[in-house]
Amino acid sequence: MPHPVYLDYNATAPLRPEAEAAMLEALRQPGNASSVHRYGRRARRVIEEAREAVAALVRARSSEVVFTAGGTEANNMVLAGTDGRRVYISAGEHDSVRHAAPHAAIIPLTSDGLVDTAWLAEALAREEAPALVSVMLANNETGVIQPIAEVAEIARRHAALVHCDAVQAAGKITIDCDALGVDFLSLSAHKLGGPQGVGAVVIRGEAEPAPLLRGGGQERRRRAGTENAAGIAGFGAAAHAALGEPGGCMRQVSGWRDGLEGRVRALAPEAVFLGASAPRLPNTSCIAVAGLAAETQVMALDLAGVAIGAGSACSSGKIEPSHVLQAMGCSPAVAAAAIRVSLGWASGAADVDRFVTAWEVLYKRVAPASAAAE
Ligand code: PLP
Repeated sequence: MPHPVYLDYNATAPLRPEAEAAMLEALRQPGNASSVHRYGRRARRVIEEAREAVAALVRARSSEVVFTAGGTEANNMVLAGTDGRRVYISAGEHDSVRHAAPHAAIIPLTSDGLVDTAWLAEALAREEAPALVSVMLANNETGVIQPIAEVAEIARRHAALVHCDAVQAAGKITIDCDALGVDFLSLSAHKLGGPQGVGAVVIRGEAEPAPLLRGGGQERRRRAGTENAAGIAGFGAAAHAALGEPGGCMRQVSGWRDGLEGRVRALAPEAVFLGASAPRLPNTSCIAVAGLAAETQVMALDLAGVAIGAGSACSSGKIEPSHVLQAMGCSPAVAAAAIRVSLGWASGAADVDRFVTAWEVLYKRVAPASAAAE
């Protein structure tokens, strides 16, 4: 079999060589960043350089960046740590937001996958006390980019705080915290070619979420525990490498993604591309052919050496109907058929060719049977 093709960047991106080198270098050195001797000072320097790189990626100040153990912790810190406010989240949020705010009011999505901002404006106008609004910058399943600056503008009119989960957007589109106007922003290293288990929350305004982890005074008392210096070094290196990509290689990635969709459409005119009518990340395609089960496609493509994701949620190995696609009003048949192809920093045109060739074989083998069964 030719070498395997990886097209599941939204699940996790391959580790960049720069991140690997930075991590190995940090792992080889002893030193706790809280120690005052030379080893400690060196670990501190590694962490602070990484903080600068992460801040630069989202045009924030480095003093606003708090390192966490990933995007899930960053989301939990804001959602669980901002007590006493009524919480609004969009219907498309990641489970790490949904489960951290189980009593939140749900902002509906349009069929394009965009948040219904008119609904939000009306709901906030009825609130008696300032709320907290959490809307992701880009969706992990469809890639749909939300109008965060507009959401923040509406929220500001009603003195609400705004949190934005930018885990999927970072490195794929330019992020400017000032332009977005958010109070809190979540990031995760492994979605942009850094290591898993490292992330950050960017805290911009006066409001301080209560720490989730208590103990030492690390991270300006916002997150206790000895810093994961090697992981943070890898995050910083990945953020630095990704800095120019939204205006650079992501344009090429977007062309490959569009080409892929065009070729799938030519093979299967009944295919739908979920979220394609809205602004989207350059790397993501969510494709459904009703009757062609997502699991069948993921497995058949895996056998052909091509790794993709299912559009449905699959955090525990069990594929469940996607709440995102349901919120967009997709029929159960379409939602059950949705696959996600996501490209990234190491992708190439040949990967798209391999996907299309393998998908064509699968489609021609399975589609007549599924059409007959309907
Ligand atoms: N938010 C979004 C939109 C995601 O796609 C993910 C990961 O799938 C997360 C948060 C969680 O990030 P982490 O895997 O670093 O906990």
